[in-house]
Amino acid sequence: MERTVKLRVKVDYKTYNKLKEVEEEYSEVLHDAIEYGLTRKTTSFTRIKAGIYKEEREKHKDLPSHYIYTACEDASERLDSFEKMKGRGRAYTDRPIIRRVTVHLDDHLWKFSLDKISIATKRGRVYLSPLFPKIFWRYYNQGWRIASEARFKLLKGNVVELYIIFKKDEPKPYEPKVFIPIDLNENSVSVLVDGKPILLETNTKKITLGYEYRRRKITTGRSTKDRDVKRKLRKLREGDKKVDVRRKFAKLVVMEAFESGSAIVLEDLPRNTPEHMVKDVRDSQLRLRIYRSAFSSMKNAVVEKAREFGVPVILVNPSYTSSTCPVHGSKIVYQPDGGNAPRVGVCEIGKERWHRDVVALYNLLRRAGDVSPVPLGSKESHDPLTVKLGRWLRAKSLHQIMIEDKMIEMKV
Ligand SMILES: [Zn+2]
Repeated sequence: MERTVKLRVKVDYKTYNKLKEVEEEYSEVLHDAIEYGLTRKTTSFTRIKAGIYKEEREKHKDLPSHYIYTACEDASERLDSFEKMKGRGRAYTDRPIIRRVTVHLDDHLWKFSLDKISIATKRGRVYLSPLFPKIFWRYYNQGWRIASEARFKLLKGNVVELYIIFKKDEPKPYEPKVFIPIDLNENSVSVLVDGKPILLETNTKKITLGYEYRRRKITTGRSTKDRDVKRKLRKLREGDKKVDVRRKFAKLVVMEAFESGSAIVLEDLPRNTPEHMVKDVRDSQLRLRIYRSAFSSMKNAVVEKAREFGVPVILVNPSYTSSTCPVHGSKIVYQPDGGNAPRVGVCEIGKERWHRDVVALYNLLRRAGDVSPVPLGSKESHDPLTVKLGRWLRAKSLHQIMIEDKMIEMKV
């Protein structure tokens, strides 16, 4: 990463003149360097420098020799970007035009210290004492280092404009080693944290249906344009409540992923309402509303929060994630009538029991590329820790929920 900070320094006439001489000779070298590059059809710094150095050294005897290097570098950069513009059809001339000369400095040509900055000229070094703007101190004090290269330009009224370049190493790319899968459902979301499945109740479907019932009660036989009806409908605040749930969940799961350096794995949801997901609701409008708030809006909330924290999100194919045994690859059979545990099924091969959401979590993990062994026949695989909405809405972190649960278990 690189940031440039401009400093303007008013100097005396003598200093200004010494820098003016440098600028003039530098631009002569720059012209020659560009000319050389054009006739030899090269943009290479090394080739340009090899081609013109000797002659330029003869022409500019007192000019510190490094200015010839930096002018060649400058020429090479200008030729390079001219070529690129030409490639994009955006060059309006047949050669790069030098409109402004900014003299490039390397570590031999300038020295930085907080009380003075020195620049080499034909007649010894000149010293500048700038006042540093706030932005300078921000970079200076926040781990940026001053680059060995800098530039200066001369402005009217004996003013020198210095360009100080700050550098900082790119932050290490986030390389997730652990995955946190999330399974979305109409009344809950499940996550796998430290290999433990947790099921957080959201009651999205229940809440939506409840509001729908109340809405109907308010509007039956009355116009929705009626002021009293409007007021009552507004007071329901269904949207606000659902947004709270989504935001809180997104925050909990993204913070967990951020702190453990994990990636989040989510089902890539189909664009259209998957009929089977909310199949027992007959009203199609209502079904769409439930689908949106439980699945797509929830997914979007997580993705947005993850983006904010730079947590990677991996979207995987959602098909059969809850009907294939993650251990045996066989079918998991759920009782057709539901029985007393409608979300628990039995593996056709191993006969072990699985909770639908837990199966989905392990399958999502697999599809994201995690091949660590899946625990077989543990209590959690068919009876995961289930947390009520009111409780997890107040929790500080997913870990806190798990710790509290362990303490409850120990007391029992
Ligand atoms: Zn199995």
